[in-house]
Amino acid sequence: MNRSTLFSASTLLPSVTNLLLPGYCISCKLSLGNKAPQAHIHCLCGGCIRALPWLRGQCRQCAIPMPNNSLCGNCQLRPPPFRRCIAAFDYLPPVDKMIQRLKVDMHAPELYQLSKLLAQTISASYKISQRPNILIPIPLHWRKYLLRGFNQSHGIAHILSKQLPGTRVQADSCLRINHGKPQHLQGKQQRLKAMKGAFRAKRNKPLYGQAVALIDDVVTTGATARSAAQCLLDAGARSVDIWCIARTGWHIGAG
Ligand SMILES: [Zn+2]
Ligand SMILES: [Zn+2]
Repeated sequence: MNRSTLFSASTLLPSVTNLLLPGYCISCKLSLGNKAPQAHIHCLCGGCIRALPWLRGQCRQCAIPMPNNSLCGNCQLRPPPFRRCIAAFDYLPPVDKMIQRLKVDMHAPELYQLSKLLAQTISASYKISQRPNILIPIPLHWRKYLLRGFNQSHGIAHILSKQLPGTRVQADSCLRINHGKPQHLQGKQQRLKAMKGAFRAKRNKPLYGQAVALIDDVVTTGATARSAAQCLLDAGARSVDIWCIARTGWHIGAG
């Protein structure tokens, strides 16, 4: 069965709401005026976009929120395999609720809006020559994929590729082979251990010498990012960066 045809009722219902209420800011309910025809892209007004919890101070490698832009203790003790992590937001209201929504509705306007704002953050973070051009969505385990019906990271990656010239999505470059119990039910050490070897690169999707960006909605402990990045480096990637909408501390069960 084609993956794009796999839907559950829970993924379809919110989409109907989106169609019925186009053209209004989902936060303050102000009309978006002449942006109404693009309501599937713009769901926040300019004022509400400026008021979002933009990530300011952060670890310069893993992007965990910090008062300044130095290197966090975790990255000093155990340097992650990825080169750097780019995140647009701290995982705080209303971004947390917006992300929860795009996990249950593949057509949620929040998906377009947040991905577009992430693309702006990425553009401002690199010289073009240093920006990865292969985008790989973090894969879901097939059981989770069947339950959810879609992978939200695919949607984010495709929107980013349209916003960032010269980039392309190379989905299914690696598989998630470890299902495990939900990560938010595990402690930090358990989570790091459980994620070790959780991914396997596909041999028919060569990555040798490529600069790659792994795409995710939220990075929490960084355990998933570390494991997937190591898998791609082992498969020959020259470098791996992480691009995510929001970054949070490990204690929050964002997935
Ligand atoms: Zn607004
Ligand atoms: Zn760090």
